[in-house]
Amino acid sequence: MTGVSTFAAASPTLGAAAVQVPEPGQEVMTAEKQSALTPAQVLAEFKAGNQRFVEDRLTPRDYRAEGAATAAGQYPKAIVLSCLDSRVIPEIVLDQGVGDLFVGREAGNVEDVNMLGSMEFATQAAGAKLIVVLGHSDCGAIKGAADGVEMAHLTELLAEFDGVLEKVRESHEGPGDGSDAEFVRLVVEENVRQTMADIASRSAIIRSLIESGDVAIAGGVYDLSTGQVKWLDF
Ligand SMILES: [Zn+2]
Repeated sequence: MTGVSTFAAASPTLGAAAVQVPEPGQEVMTAEKQSALTPAQVLAEFKAGNQRFVEDRLTPRDYRAEGAATAAGQYPKAIVLSCLDSRVIPEIVLDQGVGDLFVGREAGNVEDVNMLGSMEFATQAAGAKLIVVLGHSDCGAIKGAADGVEMAHLTELLAEFDGVLEKVRESHEGPGDGSDAEFVRLVVEENVRQTMADIASRSAIIRSLIESGDVAIAGGVYDLSTGQVKWLDF
């Protein structure tokens, strides 16, 4: 048996249960693994990884071993654009390890020109197969924008949401501010969809990779309470 060891988890109530775990660092991404992946396979892995997170059965990992095993090069599966919210940690909520993800973070998970450049690097230059826009419930950036918060550079950032706020307000009955939970939920989803569309429309490189089937864009909303990612149709 190569590369796999058995780990005996002794429990006073369950007795000794043999659990198969990989050798430290064995599962890290390589050039071969990356090139064999399709965008659909990566998305399926992330869906399964989030389900493991929800069920509190994350993959046992040795981060130091993964770090050593990836030191010579990186071949990530995807780039995830998430909010900078401290409670949304892409690697954990998708059950991924060292070297598996590029992660870009910005309040309200919107793309700007630097993020687009990072995504072009991640896909075209570094071979990532999937772009994930990951919003989350009760997003403070969305709520602040809905309430018209202004503060130095934050004012400019929150103006990014003007379009989605206006669009959702057109068909939403209710106060349509940061205290309106259903409104915030709708804007969070619309913002993910809009960001996905904007990435494809603003980047000719990414559009070309999507057309050739080498890359796909997915979107989801992470629920802070349940840990579940609701994957959005696009
Ligand atoms: Zn947020």
